[in-house]
Amino acid sequence: MSIKNNLQNIKASIPNHVTLVAVSKTKPVSAILEAYNAGQHVFGENKVQEMVEKHEQMPKDIEWHMIGHLQRNKVKYMASFVHLIHGVDSFKLLKEINKQAKKHDRVIDCLFQIKIAQEVSKFGISAQEVSKILSSQEFLELKNINITGLMGMATLTNDETQIKQEFNYLKNVFDSLKSRETFNFKPETISMGMSGDYKLAISCGSTMIRVGSSIFGARNYNIG
Ligand SMILES: *Cc1c(COP(=O)(O)O)cnc(C)c1O
Repeated sequence: MSIKNNLQNIKASIPNHVTLVAVSKTKPVSAILEAYNAGQHVFGENKVQEMVEKHEQMPKDIEWHMIGHLQRNKVKYMASFVHLIHGVDSFKLLKEINKQAKKHDRVIDCLFQIKIAQEVSKFGISAQEVSKILSSQEFLELKNINITGLMGMATLTNDETQIKQEFNYLKNVFDSLKSRETFNFKPETISMGMSGDYKLAISCGSTMIRVGSSIFGARNYNIG
C-alpha cells in the first residue's frame, strides 16, 4: 500500500473532530512530501534536530508537532516554528518554553504529558503535579505558553483491557481539570492513540492521534 492509500484509509476510519498527526520520525523528506502531496499537513517528530532539518526542507505551511521527550536546552532550536509540544512533563520545561517563545513574540501551544503507563521507562507527570502547577502564581505569569490539553502513552502490551483502562484514566484526568481553565490553560485536546491502538483511543475520547508505522511503514532505526 502507498503512503497516500494508507492516509486515505486512516482518514476514512476516524471522525472529523479527531486530528491525525502523521509521525514521520526516521522517515526521509521524500516520504513526508508524498504524504504532504496527499493532503496531510500535520507531522510529528520526536527529535528536535531531525524536526529542525525537515522543517527547513519542507513546505512552510506544515504544522510540526514535537511528540518526544524534550530536553530544556533544545527548546530554543524549534521555538520559532513548532506548532504543538506534546511532551511537557515538568514546570521547569514549561518555563523554558515560555522564555524561548517570548523571544520570538509567540505563544506556543503545549500539552501536559500524563504518565498513564505502568512501565517505568515512559515519561510523564502525575495529575496531582499538574494540579499543583495550575494552582501556582508562577504559572499565571507564563504569558507565552498555552496548555491546550493532555497527552498520554499507554503501556506497550497486547492486553486491550489494560490499554483501555489507561486511556480512560487520561480522559478522567482531562475531565477533572476542565473546570480549571485560565488564560493559558484551555484544555480541548486529548492526544492519545498510535498505530496499534488509535481506534480504541478514539472510543475512549481521544481527539488527536499520533500515527507513524500505519502510514509510512515500519521504522528501521539501524539505517535511520
Ligand atoms: C513513534 C511514536 C508514535 C507513533 O508510533 P506508531 O506505532 O508508529 O504509530 C506515537 N507517539 C509517540 C510519542 C511516538 O514516539
